[in-house]
Amino acid sequence: MKGLLVLFALVVAAYGMEDYGGQQVLRILPADEQQVDLVRELENLEHLKLDFWRAPTTFFYPIDVRVPFFSLQAVKVYLESNNINYSIMIDDLQGLLDEEQRDMWIGRSMEDTRSTNSFNYAAYHSFDSISTFINNLVAENPGFVSKIVIGNSYQGRPLNVLRFSTGSNRPAFWIDTGIHSREWVTQATGVWLAKKIVTDYGRDASLTNTLNRLDIYLEIVTNPDGYAYTHATDRMWRKTRSPNTGSTCVGTDPNRNWDAGFGGGGSSSNPCAETYRGRAAHSEPEVKAIVDFVRSHGRIKGFVSIHSYSQMLLYPYGYTTTRAADYAELDNLSRTAVNALTSLYGTRYTYGSIITTIYQASGGTVDWTYNQGIKYSFTFELRDTGRYGFILPANQIIPTAEETWLALTKLIEHTRDNLY
Ligand SMILES: [Zn+2]
Repeated sequence: MKGLLVLFALVVAAYGMEDYGGQQVLRILPADEQQVDLVRELENLEHLKLDFWRAPTTFFYPIDVRVPFFSLQAVKVYLESNNINYSIMIDDLQGLLDEEQRDMWIGRSMEDTRSTNSFNYAAYHSFDSISTFINNLVAENPGFVSKIVIGNSYQGRPLNVLRFSTGSNRPAFWIDTGIHSREWVTQATGVWLAKKIVTDYGRDASLTNTLNRLDIYLEIVTNPDGYAYTHATDRMWRKTRSPNTGSTCVGTDPNRNWDAGFGGGGSSSNPCAETYRGRAAHSEPEVKAIVDFVRSHGRIKGFVSIHSYSQMLLYPYGYTTTRAADYAELDNLSRTAVNALTSLYGTRYTYGSIITTIYQASGGTVDWTYNQGIKYSFTFELRDTGRYGFILPANQIIPTAEETWLALTKLIEHTRDNLY
């Protein structure tokens, strides 16, 4: 009977969802810059409806691209006729999505959402479930954890931020997850981190020391409209859900919308592009709310924005090759953090500035925070390196969160011990 119920729930849940039947994700390995340029030409062919999970950069860096069924033959023929090496990274995208849906419903059927103790941290959750989790965590930890609503999304959802604080007028460390809605392991990691902080405070000497000197802010669902849309309509949605004047395409890339090199390379002026920067810097209410919060707080000393995938720890800049003034310190700290992360499960990370490590990206979050004077500004790209990409199986949520916490701890401790 329970199996039947799960099946019924699955059918209902999948009804009306974007169908990815026949789609594949290809990994392209260009041999030289000329081949990179040939792949870039594909990027410009809008009718192919390609979705670049990892954009073309330089020849030593793989390109991952989701290809609709109707474009698959054309793309493969194009690559083969130009002698460009590629492999099929995800053979049956819809099959992976079906498995994810099934795991999610099974995971939910095993939990009781009335308490954060019975919450299932090894499952993916909807916006509403995470909101319930946040309210429960606040109710269970009076005087320590509070919820601040820093604004509303375009569609009117609250932008909830958890505040962990044991005193007043303290400097602070900020963490956000899920600004790109389809990067589900990040919101799930955010939930786990929130519970970890309340569990370890008073037990773990270093975290206790930290929270006696710093407040921690955590925004788990930083793009709630996009996140709700990934659950209800299209699992692969990345952007916000605000409309664009003069275009039928919806949404802005909230990680190209910040006033830091806004409009430069690695961002698009085309509203249909996944990296559409928006009509103006801070046009997205989800971005503007953080901008206003950071400015009015005035004492945020560390800022971490968490994405997936690629297994990287990145620091400014993304819009320029000019080195950050604190380059040496940020690079050393990144090495320490990555080593701590790897020590748990052997997960290998690369690190460096955004533009030299992943690709040029203008209008990104941590470039803006760094230019605001927040020296310890970092971006994570969590698991994996592409086997599952954005559809990381739920059984990797807890290991991902655990290893990420080790790296985050290094960043937070360094901030605490080097207040400026
Ligand atoms: Zn992202």
